[in-house]
Amino acid sequence: MFKRELNLGKQHPRIIREKKTIDKMVHIYCKSHHNIKSNQLCDECNEFLEYAFIRLDKCPFQEEKSTCGKCVVHCYQPQMREKAKKIMRYSGPRMLLHSPILALHHLIDGRKKPQTLKEVKEKKSKKSS
Ligand SMILES: [Zn+2]
Repeated sequence: MFKRELNLGKQHPRIIREKKTIDKMVHIYCKSHHNIKSNQLCDECNEFLEYAFIRLDKCPFQEEKSTCGKCVVHCYQPQMREKAKKIMRYSGPRMLLHSPILALHHLIDGRKKPQTLKEVKEKKSKKSS
């Protein structure tokens, strides 16, 4: 199911979990909106998921990140952001049914206070000095 898992080995569990959550959400959304069969995504949703994964790979917060919905850095292109909103609005509540554990983690991660980039940088420089 996670065909895009290639990159996961070297990543922080926090980012891996975020990827799994978004993967699941896109599947829930696509299945009920785009009339697809089995677990295949339509081209449009597939493209969105690839994009979301790339954004996560490049996310400057990594393990410090809150959930994307609460992030202070808006790294998505406007068009992709609109799609993300639609998907989250639909699949968010349904995650509890489909993947209660991931949904629970997502809730907990979302309670983390979103940080600014400045705060993250300061923290990192403290750690290394
Ligand atoms: Zn779709």
